[in-house]
Amino acid sequence: MKYINNIIKNLRKKIKLYEYFYHVLNISLVSDYKYDKLLESLLILEKNFSNYSDNYSPTKIIGENFSNMFKLKNHILPMLSLESFYKIDYFNNFCSFVKKKTNIDNVKFCCELKIDGVALNLLYKDGILLHSLTRGNGYEGEDITNNINLISNLPKKLLGHNIPKILEVRGEVFILKTDFNNLNKMLLKKFLKSFSNTRNIVSGALRRKHSESKLNIKLLFVAYGIGFIYPNNLFTSHYKMLKKLKNFGFYINKYNLICNKKITVFNFFKKVLLIKDKINFDIDGIVIKVDSIKLQKKIGYTNKFPKWAIAIKFDTENLETRILNVRFKIGRTGILTPVAKLHPINFSGVVIKNVSLHNVDNIIKLGIKIGSYVLVKRSGNVIPKIVKVISKHKKKKYKKIFFPKYCPCCKKDLVLSKNNKIYICINKRHCISQIKKNILHFFSKNGLNVRGIGPTIISKLVDKKIISNPLDVFKLNENVLYNIKNISKKCIKKITYELNISKNVNFYNFIYALGIPEIGISASKNIANNFNSVEEIISANYDDFRNIKNIGKKISKNIFCFFNSSNNVKYVKKLSKILRIVF
Ligand code: NAD
Repeated sequence: MKYINNIIKNLRKKIKLYEYFYHVLNISLVSDYKYDKLLESLLILEKNFSNYSDNYSPTKIIGENFSNMFKLKNHILPMLSLESFYKIDYFNNFCSFVKKKTNIDNVKFCCELKIDGVALNLLYKDGILLHSLTRGNGYEGEDITNNINLISNLPKKLLGHNIPKILEVRGEVFILKTDFNNLNKMLLKKFLKSFSNTRNIVSGALRRKHSESKLNIKLLFVAYGIGFIYPNNLFTSHYKMLKKLKNFGFYINKYNLICNKKITVFNFFKKVLLIKDKINFDIDGIVIKVDSIKLQKKIGYTNKFPKWAIAIKFDTENLETRILNVRFKIGRTGILTPVAKLHPINFSGVVIKNVSLHNVDNIIKLGIKIGSYVLVKRSGNVIPKIVKVISKHKKKKYKKIFFPKYCPCCKKDLVLSKNNKIYICINKRHCISQIKKNILHFFSKNGLNVRGIGPTIISKLVDKKIISNPLDVFKLNENVLYNIKNISKKCIKKITYELNISKNVNFYNFIYALGIPEIGISASKNIANNFNSVEEIISANYDDFRNIKNIGKKISKNIFCFFNSSNNVKYVKKLSKILRIVF
């Protein structure tokens, strides 16, 4: 049991750290999806092991994430967060919960976009803006009134009639995607660091200490609710209250929708999913609120969120798309890889059009066909992968994926590996695709690290038969390079300069550069630590490699076989004469 308690404590600590970085330092240490999943795991553990519950757990309260730069002031009524889910199906549970609390079957809901910005609470007295506070811990927020001039559409004096004596207006500060892109372009032009997302800009701008910053940031405010209001009998419906806020001069989202039926809520979510990338500001989901203010009061609040509203967030790590076609690529070591061409999908700004299907086994295991609807996962910066085929589209037409018998590059017969999983082109020395990729690998960052030798120039030089292996690259001179189209003088000077300095190379980078199958940079380091000269490694036997710490059977076999080939030995000896290898 102590063990469980430790897990819970560690989870809380981790989540609080992520919150501090996210809310105060504007840094996401993990994706929002991962953060939310951690919070969900903590919630489940706390439910199952209630002895370890804690009123200050991040599942129960909004954290104290203040920057200490601004005065703190109390909200009159708490300004809470929202309970979030990643599946619209959860709305069914929410309906049952609402019915249980209200005894009403067909409660009306107000559906809104969940705008991805920073929450703000504006206090008006007799229609005049008194102060503006961030949400803070829900009970007190940072007074950022001095920076609200950055928000161009905020009424400092309420318009219209029947203005309440006291009114707290709640909403989200955001920036248009077009303004965000223009700002980043401008920063890049000036060689300054660009912003990673729109929320960061907004949060940074609102917390500026001196509002006269050089950056021209145009923030906007969208109102989505109210807090304290006096007199408090003005509204009976949330939706109508939003309309009234519009009359007071606030920007209200045009997508807000009153839903009398459950199906309308599901359709709203579907529609938003389809159009979200076209909307000119970032949204991270939808919000579903009970419309009746009377029922809202009846349903109530926790210390962290209202129980009468939920957010359904978009799953930004798992996206559905369709396989349009499958191409085959030959890799550096001759392995044939099927690559699916996808209907493009947008993972938080990164558009993915192709994904590797890896091998025959993976295709069979997942049941992938051309035309299949698939779920693609991309967490953080990890390479996206297909995690499953979505069966609900079964009726559509699909085509089986047939593997080629010949190498798509050099047309030689492919060989099936012993485990029947991979097809290999063994025409290593003459297959153009392998030649190009091997040269690229040799000069890559972990190899000889020559920045000018990239895929385009290698491709041109190989196609013109000027080079066919790394040794040839060292024979290049400025005259040869001048004859290649579209390479600038500056580029040629850079290549020749870098090639020259790359000749001083660490032994482990040299081993890596040789491109021996399965030997990455950490294996190269381990191996290099055990040899003091090229001759020593050439004459080593299998056991010499096998006895190295962290070097397994496969790597030992691969490196031993590599140096067992006389062609390879000749090649390595020639290279070692050109290079100055540092042992
Ligand atoms: P939240 O952003 O999930 O939802 C609540 C907020 O939604 C409200 O406070 C409000 O500002 C906003 N909102 C937007 N449109 C709205 C509308 N129409 N009606 C009502 N509210 C609306 O919750 P949060 O407490 O602000 O932040 C927690 C979230 O922040 C997490 O779920 C996670 O996504 C993210 N986070 C990420 C990390 C990380 O490391 N990546 C760390 C902490 C938090």
